[in-house]
Amino acid sequence: MENNLPSENEKLYAKVYSRFKGSDFFSVVEDGYDYLNGQIDRVLESLKNRDLTSVYSEYYTIEDTLSLVDSFFREVIGEECADAFNKAVKSGNIELYDKYDLEEASVHPVGDEIGPHYRLINEEQFDENGKYLYTNAHKNVENPLEHDIYDVYTLVHEFIHSTNDRYKNMYKSDRELLTESVSITYEFILYDYLKSKGISPNEIGNPIKDRMRHLKRHASNMRYILKMLNKVRTDENLKNIQFDFSNDDEKKAVLDKYADFCAEVKYYIGTLIATVNYKNYIDGKLSLKTLETYNFSIDEYNELDSLPILFETLPTNDEVVSDLECLLDSITEGKKL
Ligand SMILES: [Zn+2]
Repeated sequence: MENNLPSENEKLYAKVYSRFKGSDFFSVVEDGYDYLNGQIDRVLESLKNRDLTSVYSEYYTIEDTLSLVDSFFREVIGEECADAFNKAVKSGNIELYDKYDLEEASVHPVGDEIGPHYRLINEEQFDENGKYLYTNAHKNVENPLEHDIYDVYTLVHEFIHSTNDRYKNMYKSDRELLTESVSITYEFILYDYLKSKGISPNEIGNPIKDRMRHLKRHASNMRYILKMLNKVRTDENLKNIQFDFSNDDEKKAVLDKYADFCAEVKYYIGTLIATVNYKNYIDGKLSLKTLETYNFSIDEYNELDSLPILFETLPTNDEVVSDLECLLDSITEGKKL
């Protein structure tokens, strides 16, 4: 029957599924299917009718940006982190360029580790088996400057990624899934720090609102991805599709789909974990030390062994949604549109 023929997109997801179902990352997502599926609608409902616009008004020079990042690292995370950051900037391993001056943007190979947990960000790619790999080991952090405080958030976010990336040539599902959660948590803590410095609200913008806007988008995409994933899982016809890549374009399409899939999942999960982390941090239940231990454990462990450092058990969907509502109330002063 013609109606039952799979669509092109279903076939693509079927290929993604069969090709990668054995990978660590994929199985983690699949195991969490019910958990994630049970919260998507509730997360979207919480985000509905909230004013999530955030405006940055002040002009920031490179020096303004670097000095704020330095003082945040030094005062909140520690000397070692600040020193590693400054060293990376001085050596050109973190390269800053104006986004309107793209010719300046280039990637240079760099040298040794900066410290046990401070390594420079590598360019991430997927190999033909869908495993994460890195091209050319060490590459620069490239940061196009917006010339507003967003530069400060971006630099902190990207540099934090480099602190849980020691085993650069190993695929680690843990890191793949959890690295965003750390970087985003530090963005929120940076926001607190900037407020505590007495910088005006107009100047510091609101990274939490920005992340919540992204979360809305990722939640919608996740709903679709999970729907497709479930269709393949439960439809024997789709599940058993035999396929070979008939050409390189087809292979690339599957790899691209897998990369998109991973990105959506890690930003969705990352933002929610960051939300719960930040709520716990504000309530005094999560210390910076624990957050740091969690961050460095992503280097050391595999699978989801790092998460118990933060949570005794994964927060239930009720807990996740209630923390999200709390945070939304605080950033929108309880107002709905
Ligand atoms: Zn990131």
